[in-house]
Amino acid sequence: MTEAAVTHSIEHITLPTASLGTERNVTVHRFGTPGARPKAYLHAALHAQELPGIVVLEHLQKRLHEADAEGKIIGEIALVPFANPIGLSQQIMMEAQGRYDLDTNRNYNRGFPDLIGEVVEVIADSLTDDGDENVAVIRTAIGTALEGRKDAREADVLKLRLLQLSHDADLVLDLHSAWEALLHLFVTDVNWPDADDLARQIGAEVVLVDRGNRMMTFKSAHALLWKEVAARFPDHPVPPGSLTAVVELRGQRDVDDHLTRPDADNLYHWLQRRGVIAGSPGPLPEARCEPRSVVGLHRLTAEAGGILVYHRQLGHAVREGETFCHILDPETATRTPVTAPIDGLLYARRSHRFARKGQYFCAIAGDTPIEG
Ligand SMILES: [Zn+2]
Repeated sequence: MTEAAVTHSIEHITLPTASLGTERNVTVHRFGTPGARPKAYLHAALHAQELPGIVVLEHLQKRLHEADAEGKIIGEIALVPFANPIGLSQQIMMEAQGRYDLDTNRNYNRGFPDLIGEVVEVIADSLTDDGDENVAVIRTAIGTALEGRKDAREADVLKLRLLQLSHDADLVLDLHSAWEALLHLFVTDVNWPDADDLARQIGAEVVLVDRGNRMMTFKSAHALLWKEVAARFPDHPVPPGSLTAVVELRGQRDVDDHLTRPDADNLYHWLQRRGVIAGSPGPLPEARCEPRSVVGLHRLTAEAGGILVYHRQLGHAVREGETFCHILDPETATRTPVTAPIDGLLYARRSHRFARKGQYFCAIAGDTPIEG
């Protein structure tokens, strides 16, 4: 048997120099034949201190190299193992600060280009009765709109480049982590229940389905665009051009191989299931949860300042009114009870156990079914 030609290549995309004497790059690993379908795009650590995805993609890369050597890559795969080299460089007093751009105080996962209006205008006379053709037309329009942008700031160019790498992909995964959390998934309704196999394959313990929002997260820049373009042209078939999901890989410190290697295996199997890689993915695991509407998501803020003393751990099913935590004010020796605002699952919390009054400290996914 002759060995297959290896397709792996590495590209370094240089960002504009923001400060004299510095230069940063986005590294892209590509597998498969350019233009082959399906195309999958995965990146990690857009919030730069959310490290588990970086390790997961390292494990995944090893498997992709093996598949590549055996000629098993059917589609095209682009991996960006660390999507935010700017955020990775931000440290204050030994603490990584990769969620917000310290130049502007903007969340790195907000303010992606909103191309919806521009795309709608360009494609208005080009849509047909063929859904696949329409997807191709819209992808071209998105690509052209991205090329026409004149962003100058390093962080804005970073966002532009990430969209240029991913806008024409069939599968788009944005790997994040919370401070401490169960493995969970955010999906826009336009991609649900299509993403059910992803949720089951990666063993998501919480699936939150939203309607998309105009804060233009990376996910919105994909899913909301497809959703709104379809809504604007009800007389033409416009299927979502991509399945885009945010995979929250537990907590930021959950980088160890016993967690991240199985996560990578699951992503590999999902890519097999979706026809990107040849081979059998095995049986699809049972769902570990019912999908929930993001409407029932409660991010709790502290009613008093003090030390957070939890009585319940992550994964605990809380009942409305249940006291699951106290905030201790050591000066007055008082404990302010924290009660659950809704029946649901305690699924994420900040790792710091000190809260200032008004500060976010944990999240409960309410048992709110998705609409429709
Ligand atoms: Zn994040």
